[in-house]
Amino acid sequence: MKILLVFDFDNTVLDDNSDTRIVQCAPEKKLPIELQDSYQKGFWTEFMGRVFRYLGDKGVREDDMKRVVTSMPFTPGMVELLNFVRKNRDRFDCIIISDSNSVFIDWVLKAANFHDVFDKVFTNPAAFDHNGHLTVENYHTHSCTRCPKNLCKKVVLVEFVDSQLQQGVNYTQVVYIGDGGNDFCPVTFLKKNDVAMARKGYTLQKTLSRMPQTHGPVESSVLVWSSGVEIISHLQFLIKV
Ligand SMILES: [Mg+2]
Ligand SMILES: [Zn+2]
Repeated sequence: MKILLVFDFDNTVLDDNSDTRIVQCAPEKKLPIELQDSYQKGFWTEFMGRVFRYLGDKGVREDDMKRVVTSMPFTPGMVELLNFVRKNRDRFDCIIISDSNSVFIDWVLKAANFHDVFDKVFTNPAAFDHNGHLTVENYHTHSCTRCPKNLCKKVVLVEFVDSQLQQGVNYTQVVYIGDGGNDFCPVTFLKKNDVAMARKGYTLQKTLSRMPQTHGPVESSVLVWSSGVEIISHLQFLIKV
């Protein structure tokens, strides 16, 4: 029997936001005001599509972007945590659900040699087109009113757990590790025995701290973390019980 670990990516695995960091590639490291102001709530993927087109038009190439993305730091304790998970692969399955994109996540995991730690990565599919522009598509369509149009992490999690169940894999527990506002929806899927690990001082933790402890939308226990090392201690506790 295994535990399922679900990781967010930006500000959870990495100690920054890759979509924001990529602006470092732009001339003068900033976007024109019109482009910056063109973001509409819920339409992040479309916005990033315009940002990537702009970068491509300004002559920013794949290698430039790769250099910026792979130089982003990991969150404190995260390298230790991923090594711990690798050493205990018989106890954990491990996935990423992220609103970043497949190209950035691939670069980071390959550069740091963590590809083998994750069973699956669910994110917006991206690729370089023949002009050398990075293009990104919505991960899926869904009908959740809480989430941005391109991705509801809860729908992804429910579908993954269901498909695993059909393969005969039934998780004893789900541990969800995240920081952001879009990590709240999947946390409401967690059951009493599961654990939501919210990064201290970030949106998810602040949102959860305002929720009623009983009869609220969150049934699971909530743990607040600042370093991946704290997550290791809790996982050690979980696999010893
Ligand atoms: Mg995040
Ligand atoms: Zn949702």
